[in-house]
Amino acid sequence: MNIHEYQAKEILSGYDIPVPRGRVALTADQVERAAKMMGGRCVVKAQIYAGGRGKAGGIKLVPHPEQAHEVAKELFGKRLVTPQTGPEGLKVRRILVEEPVDIGREFYLSITLDRSTSRYCLIASAEGGMDIEETAQKSPDKIQQMTIDPFTGLRPYQARKIALGLGLKGDLCEDCVQLILNLYRCCLEKDCSLVEINPLVVTRADWLLAMDAKITFDDNALFRHWEYHDMIDYSQMDPLEIAAGKFDLAYIKLDGNIACMVNGAGLAMATLDVLKESGGEPANFLDVGGGATREKVAEAFKIILQDKEVEGVFVNIFGGIMRCDVIAQGIIEAAGEVQCTLPIVVRMDGSQVEEGKRLLTGSGLKVQCVDSLGQGASSIVEMLKAEKGEG
Ligand code: GDP
Ligand code: MN
Repeated sequence: MNIHEYQAKEILSGYDIPVPRGRVALTADQVERAAKMMGGRCVVKAQIYAGGRGKAGGIKLVPHPEQAHEVAKELFGKRLVTPQTGPEGLKVRRILVEEPVDIGREFYLSITLDRSTSRYCLIASAEGGMDIEETAQKSPDKIQQMTIDPFTGLRPYQARKIALGLGLKGDLCEDCVQLILNLYRCCLEKDCSLVEINPLVVTRADWLLAMDAKITFDDNALFRHWEYHDMIDYSQMDPLEIAAGKFDLAYIKLDGNIACMVNGAGLAMATLDVLKESGGEPANFLDVGGGATREKVAEAFKIILQDKEVEGVFVNIFGGIMRCDVIAQGIIEAAGEVQCTLPIVVRMDGSQVEEGKRLLTGSGLKVQCVDSLGQGASSIVEMLKAEKGEG
């Protein structure tokens, strides 16, 4: 789960990590008033669920409050396209107004879950700021990485090693050690999969300050943080992913034209792989779960069909616990409701499979039942080709 920069800064601030004074605004008038509160000069920052805003015109240094009004009017409602958003961009609905800072040096600092070691990893670089991706590519030696042992936790001497590695000395070094330890405490207590400060700056007056902040919460821990729910900004999320969340379906939109409905995350991944190998392009990842009901299957089917790019559907359900006739009923019900005329290939196996196939074949849908995953993948690809007159 993502949150906005201003929310991340509020959390960091609760861990004694210094952030610039600022206010979040929803209208251009509010932006102007906030600018006056900052003393006239201010930084106007578009709040979207993506980084790379600086280079996309989402961060503006503004000398007068009236100008803040103008800049805000231009930003509100605009779709910011950054390397992290995809071509359609993300709409700006909230703006953070902050006091401007005279930057001395910019660092990169983050703690993230490293899935290969199953541990948190501390990452730091003295070459922080907007070009950190380039630094990581071209001079990875300029980036320090440290795996954190979950039993000992992060020790002060380890944080000091990182701070010294950033070239900090004396009080500033000790402040940075404290900041790093606080960041780790925040990461653990708030169940984050990422906490990132980029840039962490040393101001011209020699203070450490978190100028930008990004926090991602671990979705698997959301059940113990009910307070996070109110922080979600649905305007920043894909509407289909929101709908899927309501029915507890794991859905991720992809770029292709073949909608996929599968039970089990592993089988869903395998299905996408095999589909790709057969020359098909999956439109989504969707796991309906192990004990999916007829209603859930029907909702899932409706969600995958809402994607405008979809031209065909591939259902791959391994029964076992699920009864195939129930699945078939769910599909028929949903297809009828949304008047689906697209080609559908269904690969089912498990309990009541014959009854399931009989129901589907007699349903009047443009459906083909197959027995194996490989056969199913090539069938849907062939059916689409035939539809386009290429078969
Ligand atoms: P991002 O591009 O989405 O990561 O947005 P950031 O919040 O990191 O801002 C991008 C860049 O704008 C930073 O790396 C800074 O160099 C610059 N910036 C942001 N706020 C200020 C400020 O108050 N003063 C100055 N001088 N530069 C700023
Ligand atoms: Mn940044």
